[in-house]
Order: sequence, then C-alpha cells, then structure tokens
Amino acid sequence: MLPDEAFNYLGVLDGALRREARFDLVAFDMDGVLVDYTSCWTWIHDHFSVDNEGALNEFIEGRIDDKEFMRRDIALWKERNPSLNRMDLDTILEPLPMTTGITETVSALKAAGIKTVIITGGLDIVAERIAKHYGFDDFLANGVECDDRGMVTGEGILRVELKNKRAALESFLAKYSVRKERAASIGDSFIDIPMFEASGMSIAYNPSDELAARRATFVVRSQDLTAVLPYLLKGK
Ligand SMILES: [Mg+2]
Repeated sequence: MLPDEAFNYLGVLDGALRREARFDLVAFDMDGVLVDYTSCWTWIHDHFSVDNEGALNEFIEGRIDDKEFMRRDIALWKERNPSLNRMDLDTILEPLPMTTGITETVSALKAAGIKTVIITGGLDIVAERIAKHYGFDDFLANGVECDDRGMVTGEGILRVELKNKRAALESFLAKYSVRKERAASIGDSFIDIPMFEASGMSIAYNPSDELAARRATFVVRSQDLTAVLPYLLKGK
C-alpha cells in the first residue's frame, strides 16, 4: 500500500495536470463543428451531384416534417443509385474532412472529468465513427434506414428533430444527471439555438449564420477546435 504522502503527492500532481472544469457536460454539434463541412447529408448530395433545395425550403417553411425531409433526400440518392447500400454510404462518407484539434479538445475535457456528447441532425454512421475514434461519451444522430441485407430502404431514422435539439440535449442532461447550468453547448448554425438555450453557456463556433452568432454566449472563430477550451476549463 502507498503511504498517505504518496496519495497527497498524486493528488497535487493530478491537480497540476488537470484543469478544473467549468461544466459537467459539453454537447457538440457535428456538422460544421467536428466535421469540417456544412453537413454530411450535403456531402452525399454533392457525391451524387443532386440538390435538395426544394425540400430544404419546404422544411424550413414547415410544410414537410423531419421524416419527409429525410425521405426526399434519400430519394435523390436512390435515383442515382437504386441499389444503394450501407457500405456505399460508408465509402462515400469516409473522406469527410474533420476539424483540427478534436483529439486535444476531447482529451482535455475528459481529463477535467467532463462528459462529451455529440448531438446532430447528421448521420449516425459519421457520429458513431467520430465518437469511437475521438472518445466521446455518447451521441444522438439521425440515420438512413437499411434492411437486413444492408439495402437503403428510402426511409430515414429520426432521433434528433432539427428544430428541437433542445430535447436531445435535455435527454442527455437527464441521462447523466447534469443541471442545465453545468452544461455547455457548441454549434455553428441557427439549428443549434434551442440547444444553446438549454445550456448554461453556449459557443457559436465559426458560425455559418448571424442568428447563431447573436444567440450564443460566445463566438469563437478558429480553424482549431482547441480554441473553445478556455471557455470550458478554468485556469491557463
Ligand atoms: Mg452544424
């Protein structure tokens, strides 16, 4: 057994290495924050050279819901490749560019005892890959339904309503017993505002619209995600 002094020494050492957390949980939007691209749905549209502007406008105007929006997007892909399957999607999404500094950011937050989660209207294929690779604690993302042979059915799987990211964040706050004031969220667009409102502090990271910048507690413009750390951890 180690003597008490050894434990004390380890405690001091730990304190010196570990920066104190300002929050207990940090929620990251994925597309435009962790993924260095507008959206993983758009990435697939670009791959097939299709455009979803019509459905996007109808969705924004409230004439179609999340499920129909996803159905229309997937239909565009299936027009180009009627036998589209899960492996094709994996391959298409493989080269998605990632933001610099995710490894360092997640490590620093974890070292401070902060839970890190991903909340995205983007695809679970990407969210799962990022969560595993960088060590996020949890994620909530939407999906493309595939049958038992892996064929894309044409339906989407809805887990995060685009207009209600608040609900997704609140489900994590309940799951990990975190109070709103002890939660921070990071997003890049107006879609993230409900999530901002459900957290004690919010960061618009490289905001893609003025509304997100105005409604977040702080705005961080940087090509390196570690630029958010000073807002999440105390000390230098
Ligand atoms: Mg985004």
